[in-house]
Amino acid sequence: MNVLIMGAAGSGKGTLSKKIAEKYKIAHISSGDMFRAAIQSGSELGLTAKQYIDQGRLVPDELTVALIRERITEPDCEKGFLLDGYPRTLPQAKDLLALCEELDKPLAVVLHLEIETAELVSRITGRRICANCGAIYNITHQPSKIEGRCDLCGGTLLQRSDDTEERLLVRMQEYEELTRPVIDWLKERVSVIEIDAGASVGEVWQQVQDVLGGTV
Ligand SMILES: [Zn+2]
Repeated sequence: MNVLIMGAAGSGKGTLSKKIAEKYKIAHISSGDMFRAAIQSGSELGLTAKQYIDQGRLVPDELTVALIRERITEPDCEKGFLLDGYPRTLPQAKDLLALCEELDKPLAVVLHLEIETAELVSRITGRRICANCGAIYNITHQPSKIEGRCDLCGGTLLQRSDDTEERLLVRMQEYEELTRPVIDWLKERVSVIEIDAGASVGEVWQQVQDVLGGTV
């Protein structure tokens, strides 16, 4: 079973991806990890990608899809893969579907994590991180016992400088502008399921299992 997962930062995509990969025994391919691994391996594609990244340039689509091809033909993808962080643009989505068709690895489903702006704002702007041990809290959803103090080590809880509402709204708008056309295009070609990512972790996981349950 090959699955694509899409959702803005803060939608819980990372946590959910791990659970899906574990339960359905498919490889979780995060595009960031894929680039890092390719560069570390010292493969020709990895080294070429590194040149772009080192110069602060975008890795071209042909190179990215070549890396995806290499990655999804590895043995751990035999039972399927969960792709996370790619495609981000319409040309990349076209590349991916063409590749899936060529390799006879069709996408079973696209999971689109939808979350209300207000909920995302409260998740992100309420986030506090322990300066000492890195533990993560949320002033609304998961507060520490003593305000501003880490439960685990007593360290000071800080807000990351880019976790402000203003920056979040800019990031969300960018995501929306880039991703909406990709989702719309995919909807005409594959099964795209909207997941209510604003629900509790348990409820979101249930929604996902309802979708994937029968398609293993
Ligand atoms: Zn701490």
